Amino acid sequence: MSTYDKYETVIGLETHVQLATNSKAFCGDAIEFGASPNTHISTIALAYPGTLPKANHQHIQFAIRLGLALGSTINLENRFDRKNYFYADLPKGYQITQDRLPICVGGQLPIRVDGKMRHIRIHHIHMEEDAGKSIHDLDPKHSLIDLNRAGTPLLEIVSEPDLRSADEVDAFMTTMRQLVRYLEISDGNMEQASLRCDCNISVRLKGTEKLGQRCEVKNLNSMRFARKAIEFEQKRQIDLIESGGKVLQQTLNFDPNTGRTSPLRSKEDAHDYRYFPEPDLPPIKIKREQVQKIKKQLPPLPWQLLETFTQTYQLSEYDANLLTEEKGIALFAQKLLQASAHHKAIANLLINKIIPYLKQENLDAEDFPIPIGNLLDFIDLIQSEQVSHSIAYQRLFPALLERPTVSAKEVATQMNLLQSKDDDFLLELVERILAQHPDKVKAYQNGKKGLIGFFMGDLMKQSKGKAHPKEAKKLLESKLAE
Ligand code: ADP
Ligand code: MG
Repeated sequence: MSTYDKYETVIGLETHVQLATNSKAFCGDAIEFGASPNTHISTIALAYPGTLPKANHQHIQFAIRLGLALGSTINLENRFDRKNYFYADLPKGYQITQDRLPICVGGQLPIRVDGKMRHIRIHHIHMEEDAGKSIHDLDPKHSLIDLNRAGTPLLEIVSEPDLRSADEVDAFMTTMRQLVRYLEISDGNMEQASLRCDCNISVRLKGTEKLGQRCEVKNLNSMRFARKAIEFEQKRQIDLIESGGKVLQQTLNFDPNTGRTSPLRSKEDAHDYRYFPEPDLPPIKIKREQVQKIKKQLPPLPWQLLETFTQTYQLSEYDANLLTEEKGIALFAQKLLQASAHHKAIANLLINKIIPYLKQENLDAEDFPIPIGNLLDFIDLIQSEQVSHSIAYQRLFPALLERPTVSAKEVATQMNLLQSKDDDFLLELVERILAQHPDKVKAYQNGKKGLIGFFMGDLMKQSKGKAHPKEAKKLLESKLAE
């Protein structure tokens, strides 16, 4: 057993989700990724003297929606606090956040790793605003500041230290991304930093209860970086302990270029944020009925659909994952699965034909041109062996996309794609093929039974896929045995 195997990694995440609200958290400024720098900053966003912030109704609604989806308790009375610190990208000198009384407490996010379900407990969710952005790589002599992002509404989801590996962190972030997209509260885009996390990492000897001293790696906005940061930290902390040292509680930066973490600040020089209740905003009071209303409007959640698809419809976990990745496709799949007995065939059609088409055409599932009823007819044609699977996929499906409202059967008939079990048709075909290959017929009759594959191949080709394969094979074998 290697030294590293004696240790267990413990991780807690502070995940930030940037919300897709119409405007900023405390004023009417627009939110637009990639907008010309410093074009969406009002005096309120900069907290000019005499200006007053105003809470954003959508910010609160979105927090409740996420909280309910995670099974959190909603604090019907909660409040904003002021977190004081000065930094170039925060010129107003404080951030409005929630400290003592956050909007949601408790809850859990179900994740799947290696086919096993784990429930990662949520400590709380709070609302806050984002800071601006410092840009260090555009000007050789100066740092530049873009304050467009200042005041953008965020939710911070703080997990309990329940995660044990980079794989679990990956699953947590992937599921969180999927969830916020299902709930339509954020685009969950990690590249644009709409979803990012701070990773608190410690190690302890396996079998021990007490948590080790943790370090916090800030602002990871790609799964690849999070993974590297965790792997680097695990090893660094274990090496340190094994060589007689002690892990210090530090805030770390991850450098993607070197794959290493480095200290940003230690606990000793941690900020004193001097939190106090935000004096410019009244406490938030939420009506119980409002929570009930939001609860009723929640969409089916990704893990619920995954369960239905695997349990009720007996799809493989692999297929079910693909089909539930996006809500639009998942709901479309559910409609088809509900209406048909051929679940595996439906999953195949979605995965191999419909989803690629939607991606290629950049369409939402609800705008898929072939109506559900006609798709079911299409599946039935294959299942009842009226059209061969390959002909259906290669020729009938594209034809249906051209004429989506004409019934699949009618299009197949017009295109002469229906398979024939017709005895005369098959007999004529079999006799023709045997006559064309007298040598191979002899070889077959002398024991080279593998040649049946050759005859079948030629037969399907000459029938242009219309021969019914099972019937044709039966007839071929009986003719060859004569
Ligand atoms: P603080 O308020 O100082 O930031 P918290 O108690 O809020 O500390 O914890 C912040 C995050 O760190 C949470 O996600 C929590 O689960 C995680 N965490 C706390 N202690 C540890 C530890 N020893 N190892 C790993 N993660 C931890
Ligand atoms: Mg914290």
